[in-house]
Amino acid sequence: MNQRINFQLPESELPTVWTNIVPDLPVAPEPPLNPGTGEPLTPDELAPLFPPSLIEQEMSSARTIDIPGEVLDVYRLWRPSPLIRAKNLEKHLGVSSRIYYKYEGTSPAGSHKPNTAIAQAFYNKHDGTRRLTTETGAGQWGSALALASSFFDLECTVYMVRVSYDQKPYRRSLMQVYGADVFSSPSRETEAGRAVLAQYPDSPGSLGIAISEAVEDAAGSNDTCYSLGSVLNHVLMHQSVIGLEAQKQMELAGDQPDYVVGCCGGGSNFAGLAFPFLGDALRSQKSGPEFIAVEPSACPTLTRGLYAYDFGDSAGMTPLLKMHTLGHDFVPAGIHAGGLRYHGEAPLLSLLAHHGYIKPRTVNQLPTFAAALTFARTEGILPAPESAHAIRAAIDLAEEGEDRGEERSILFCLSGHGHFDLGAYEAYLAGELDDYVYPESEITAALDKLPKNPSGGGPR
Ligand SMILES: *Cc1c(COP(=O)(O)O)cnc(C)c1O
Repeated sequence: MNQRINFQLPESELPTVWTNIVPDLPVAPEPPLNPGTGEPLTPDELAPLFPPSLIEQEMSSARTIDIPGEVLDVYRLWRPSPLIRAKNLEKHLGVSSRIYYKYEGTSPAGSHKPNTAIAQAFYNKHDGTRRLTTETGAGQWGSALALASSFFDLECTVYMVRVSYDQKPYRRSLMQVYGADVFSSPSRETEAGRAVLAQYPDSPGSLGIAISEAVEDAAGSNDTCYSLGSVLNHVLMHQSVIGLEAQKQMELAGDQPDYVVGCCGGGSNFAGLAFPFLGDALRSQKSGPEFIAVEPSACPTLTRGLYAYDFGDSAGMTPLLKMHTLGHDFVPAGIHAGGLRYHGEAPLLSLLAHHGYIKPRTVNQLPTFAAALTFARTEGILPAPESAHAIRAAIDLAEEGEDRGEERSILFCLSGHGHFDLGAYEAYLAGELDDYVYPESEITAALDKLPKNPSGGGPR
């Protein structure tokens, strides 16, 4: 073990392929279904929403896909991203475990999301799209897609969840600086938005509602496609650059992780870091690290949701995905980690969690902010509240190791910085935040409304 702490890779080590976990899965994935017929979705049913190259990637079982040169040229603005050993944090905790973080906050938009936004904008431009629509929660994905759209000369319309629109005016401004049109969701622009407003004029919005709006907008015009920042197979694949770099960087460090940790909203930063390690373990049939997916107690999709077919949006316009879900009309509490407030979870991640290859755990809001402050005061980086969930779990794992006399090697994904989240930090420091555990009665009620799987067997 050497004394270095910053395991920077040279530009020449930038990955030139994305990797896909599908060919290494221990069990076959269950296909997305057409909600009307209950039959597996065909590529042409996705054509109103996505360009042909991304539909092909979504359904691909190739182990690797070459990253186009134009995408690599943009990645080089900030990639390879840093992998740092958190020595000051270790010292502060007084633990003998080694804690490393892969830092994705050095991208222009401040998170891992441009890894897929750049790729999606490139393929859309290539296939003739003129405008992209999308939803955003905390604003991270919206700013990433706005940035990518400006690089590839596309128009961009963003439906931003209302609580975030109000809580985070500067994320909205950033999207507008990059040239995007931004609407507070539920909006009056779409039928889906107007329907919610008619029933709940004060609706705080949700990712599920904003997705309905963006999908409706894209489906209604020929030259417009929809873009999703997480959950789908092609998104998880684009994020594999995180783990591919981290594998080389852990080699530079002369170490191998015992634990690979990431926060989970739709699952893309976690899968981006974890799947290259997990793919290797599955192929070699060696045990490999433990994979820990961390979610908020307020939105416990993997730990308390059901593994079932459900819609990706609230209005029921998307295909049915087999995933962990809290029910598609779940409206989460306004916790300050907007990027983690989604009712579903990536199908690939759900499958692997269901079969025990990934261990989910929840953390509550106040201990998460406490961990974020400890991290900022020892390592200097102000984490995004989403990323702070991974920090909380990494600290817990190191302290549990100490109690058991285990020296652990822990690698987590620091998915973004929190420079636009100072309102949340201000509220925390003023003692205005609470812990919040999603009530069981609400979960049961939402799950009762899951769509029946028309191909038989009920939704479960
Ligand atoms: C969007 C976001 C997340 C959650 O999304 P995943 O798809 O689960 O990665 C986590 N961290 C940050 C900084 C984000 O912007």
